[in-house]
Amino acid sequence: MKTLTEYNATCLRIAVCVPVRGTFLYVVPQALAPCANVGCQVIVPFKNRKVEGYILEKVSQAQDLELKEIVDIPHKTPLFHSQQVAFFEWISEYYIQPIGNIIRSALPDGMKMGLCKSIFLTEHGSRAIEELDRDSEDREILSWIRDHPGKRAPWSFSRISALEKLKWLSIEDGKPKRSMTPLLRTFVRPKKGVDLKAFLEQDEGTFKAKGEVEFLKTVFSSESIRLSELSANFSNGRYLVNKWIGKGVLESYKEKLCRSSLGNIVFSSSPPLTLYGQQREALDSITAALDKKTFSSVLLYGVTGSGKTEVYCRAIEYAFRSGRQAIVMLPEISLATYMENIFRSRLGHRISVYHSGLSSGERFDQWMKIVRGEVDLVMGARSALFAPLPRLGLIIVDEEHDPSFKQENNPRYNGRDMAVVRAKIEDTLVILGSGTPSIQSYQNCMNGRYHLLEMPERVEKRPLPEVEIIDMKTLPERQQGNRMISPRLHQAIEGNIRSGDQTILFLNRRGFHRLYLCRFCGRHVRCPNCDVSLTYHLENDRLSCHYCGFHAAKETTCVACGRKGLKAYGFGTEKLAHELRELFPSARIDRMDADSTRRRGETLRILKRFSRQETDILVGTQMVTKGYDFPKVTLVGVIAADLSLEFPDFRAGERTFQILSQVAGRAGRGPAKGRVIIQTFNPNHYSIKTAVDNDFLSFFMKERELRQQLGYPPFYHLACLRLQGNDKEKTAGAAQKLGQDVRSVVKGSHQMNKDLILLGPVEAPIAKLKGKYRWQMLVKGRTNAALKEFLVLVDRQLVRPLQTRGLQLILDVDPYQMI
Ligand code: ADP
Ligand code: ZN
Repeated sequence: MKTLTEYNATCLRIAVCVPVRGTFLYVVPQALAPCANVGCQVIVPFKNRKVEGYILEKVSQAQDLELKEIVDIPHKTPLFHSQQVAFFEWISEYYIQPIGNIIRSALPDGMKMGLCKSIFLTEHGSRAIEELDRDSEDREILSWIRDHPGKRAPWSFSRISALEKLKWLSIEDGKPKRSMTPLLRTFVRPKKGVDLKAFLEQDEGTFKAKGEVEFLKTVFSSESIRLSELSANFSNGRYLVNKWIGKGVLESYKEKLCRSSLGNIVFSSSPPLTLYGQQREALDSITAALDKKTFSSVLLYGVTGSGKTEVYCRAIEYAFRSGRQAIVMLPEISLATYMENIFRSRLGHRISVYHSGLSSGERFDQWMKIVRGEVDLVMGARSALFAPLPRLGLIIVDEEHDPSFKQENNPRYNGRDMAVVRAKIEDTLVILGSGTPSIQSYQNCMNGRYHLLEMPERVEKRPLPEVEIIDMKTLPERQQGNRMISPRLHQAIEGNIRSGDQTILFLNRRGFHRLYLCRFCGRHVRCPNCDVSLTYHLENDRLSCHYCGFHAAKETTCVACGRKGLKAYGFGTEKLAHELRELFPSARIDRMDADSTRRRGETLRILKRFSRQETDILVGTQMVTKGYDFPKVTLVGVIAADLSLEFPDFRAGERTFQILSQVAGRAGRGPAKGRVIIQTFNPNHYSIKTAVDNDFLSFFMKERELRQQLGYPPFYHLACLRLQGNDKEKTAGAAQKLGQDVRSVVKGSHQMNKDLILLGPVEAPIAKLKGKYRWQMLVKGRTNAALKEFLVLVDRQLVRPLQTRGLQLILDVDPYQMI
């Protein structure tokens, strides 16, 4: 190690990919200095290991610090821009997550460096092979390594490093490699100046191979052609290519291909020539905000069908005109794909769709295009938030109320909230759009933090659909039990089929039967890994767990009482579709849920069929409630409005209101009037009533009052501490201890004592998930500062010691799922 003045070099602040807080300084060796740019990936030494990291900043360091050297900068192109650094740091601080992990998970998987080791046999090792027992395992390993030098050995690393300690092996770091590389393909083209005509007039003997003349004509008729295409069309294609390259007539070259998800345009829309008054007003405010070129955040509250998409399009066009770029975030991949079609037909081809549903090659290529500035609009789900656009000017979060913007595994963050943060840091405009704004965003308008723009009418003043409630309690019992469709809804569907209109039926539960239980003793068949019941699926005739994917054959004999009493109860989308097929044998029925869309592209196929009116009834889970625009849908049926109310979650009322209003909003978007039928057991619940009356403001006031009384967001800041472990007793014990430790942390400061409320620890509503036992504590903070102080201390003092005991403590800031 040398000091900096000896080096006369700059040093770099690096985010390393290890679970530690903070960033680290390293020095750049002269040879690597030209590549050392902010955003570049580096390999650095860290505690006797080599790890991946990212350059955050160049620092001119005056003091003589002893610093370690950067080992390698394998790729010159930065992966993000310097203006994104502050954003990554902000997320890392707010969610108490190591910054290296934040950046790493923002990048496409294929960019991560594999740091594999290469293993070689030493002289000692060769001698050991001679001396060791014939059937000792050590000898087996050594011989394998002798025969496969530098290869990855099929033994555990600890096994190998034991042999290294005996000096029988040497372990060296392999060259760091990305798992994904640009896609290079071979192309063939005629050499410059060769005249095909003159050429073909040569004597016939030259072209005696099969299809040779045709082959040459094909190559000459295009500027350049893929080698693979030639060999697909000509059985002797490769031979002919080589032959004519040899004669100096053709040449081959390699070029990067962009793996692109570009689909065909399925739903093209012609742009409306004029905007409606409310759209004009909203757009004027937005362009005025864009002109200021500073941060501001706007909530665009436009009822379903009010024409928000058109406002987005024109706002983006406006940003483009001043050379700026945009991100559009949507709650679901299927919606991103659907909207891509609309935007592509309007805004041209400098669009990239970026989400986790792409192959890793596609994501890699899209990211590189974005970072190079070849793309002006990035559309996607949550992960589009991190798109490295160099000239970001506008972020749009559509359906901002949707809980899927919250990422539920590490790193946990809320994409909607972080969009506002990124806009603030990069000094741009952010538009949150919704027909049913979240309580939080609307409250932010009330207190002046966001600017509210309203579009209260549907386009062409189309009426909102008429909503009718069916109180399921009043139906005769036999109808409550097995049939999911009330006579009223049945009639309406029948009428709709007769008139050739389309119907959407929404049921927020997938599968066939909900519960599999014994009618004698009442025992449920439960998942062995998760504390939940298994769901029966007709398609594969099996029971499966919706959390971990466990599945099992269906049984009839109850393990608890030994009698043949196991039977399925309840319902799901699969059963609903089944029932519909029996009720309406001639209708064309499709189903859209997590099961039916597992195959890539399936969602788009379902939507395509529906938009071409090849489907009469579309059955689905919350996937069908999102922002699609299908003008021929005149009837929407909600099978069980109560399902989202059952959740043990303070947002259950908000979710129910949103889901019902959104799904109702799919009806009557064309010239014909829409109709919505809601089946429920709780017709008087305020969420259902206000949704039926389409009365957001009353809902908001009521919900806000409850939140204030109960101490929930947006009045209190929340964090959930979740403890997980493999052993039931040990986890329960650790949870009790955690409760004490956490309380003593709080006692240490006046501010925390005053501003924090601790609840728990309690067993989580799902007490066991994917084999882990779960406990949780809820922390409410009157101020964000107190909660932050608390989380930092918990992270510093309690997380690691638990980890070493095989337990995991997860800090979920602004939690959504507390089940
Ligand atoms: P939202 O996203 O607010 O629910 P959409 O943006 O899907 O609503 O618009 C609903 C329908 O109105 C779409 O079919 C759209 O093409 C149409 N539309 C929007 N703006 C106009 C306009 N200015 N003139 C004519 N049709 C419009
Ligand atoms: Zn399970």
